[in-house]
Amino acid sequence: MKPQDSISLVKSERRDPCALCDQANYEILFRQDRNYHPLTTVICTHCGLVSHESIPKDHELAEYYSKEYRQEYHGEFHPSGRRVLREWQRGAELATRLSTYTRGCRNLFEIGAGIGCNVKQFELAGLDASGIEPGCGFQQYAKRHLKADIANNFFQDLRTGGPYDIVLMVHVLEHLNAPVQAFETIRKILIPGGLAYIEVPNLEAPHSRPGRLFHFAHIYNFTGSTLAMLARKCGFRVKHAFSRSSDKNLMILLERTDREMLTLDQSSYQCTRQAIDRYNNLTYHLRWQYIKERCRTLYRQHSTRLATRYRLNRILQRCQEPQQTVFHKVA
Ligand SMILES: [Zn+2]
Repeated sequence: MKPQDSISLVKSERRDPCALCDQANYEILFRQDRNYHPLTTVICTHCGLVSHESIPKDHELAEYYSKEYRQEYHGEFHPSGRRVLREWQRGAELATRLSTYTRGCRNLFEIGAGIGCNVKQFELAGLDASGIEPGCGFQQYAKRHLKADIANNFFQDLRTGGPYDIVLMVHVLEHLNAPVQAFETIRKILIPGGLAYIEVPNLEAPHSRPGRLFHFAHIYNFTGSTLAMLARKCGFRVKHAFSRSSDKNLMILLERTDREMLTLDQSSYQCTRQAIDRYNNLTYHLRWQYIKERCRTLYRQHSTRLATRYRLNRILQRCQEPQQTVFHKVA
């Protein structure tokens, strides 16, 4: 049984070349977004890359992200205490996850830094850490409350900077209208052999119920295969994959290398179609994994609510204290 809103084998009218393989043959996957608003999502029949049928222009995105996005997507212009605690925890986990690789690094830059928790965690770990965030409310919070070095800037305006040892893009790449140019910019601001940590939602994993997979903000939807191919096309190699194909998010560490000829993964299109058509609403919700995760989330939300104020005050107090940058010795 196919998902409710999936439309099989309907050819798209789109004519511009695919960002990954440069071909122009697309099929329509869905005609609605997760809130049942009109949004046509297509798949490239050549490489399996999934994206909007109509890619938004720069000025449309600039307007959307400076004003609407945080409110529409997260339901808040300024971050709630619960969000800060959650992001703070994720930042700590990320700093631990990358600790083996950041040991020889002096500086780090985050694109789309949000509230600034990742940047602050790496600063507390001894790196010279900074970043940019286009949303005014979140960027102001990062500066005022976390004392994190986050500028209010758009990725598209980032022409120079660095060079940096490591660049982070956590849940950002899927929001950009030109992912190849994004990788080009990262290459420019990285040192040779520098590292890029990329995290995006995993389209192959059952992370959202059928018919609610897509959102205007997510212009490109990646699988492990399409993300790795795109990175290779842009002169990066996968140094380490922290995620499995069943994980909700793809988490990969890339290394800047010489450019190579792109070899397409021939199974990519078929695998993506199978992943999207795998569940209907009923079979998605009846999965043991789904039930287990819902219970865990409800428990976590309840316990977080009780401790939020106390923990948040402690974190903000710590961020107000002057920080000392400690450079690690290069191994
Ligand atoms: Zn393609």
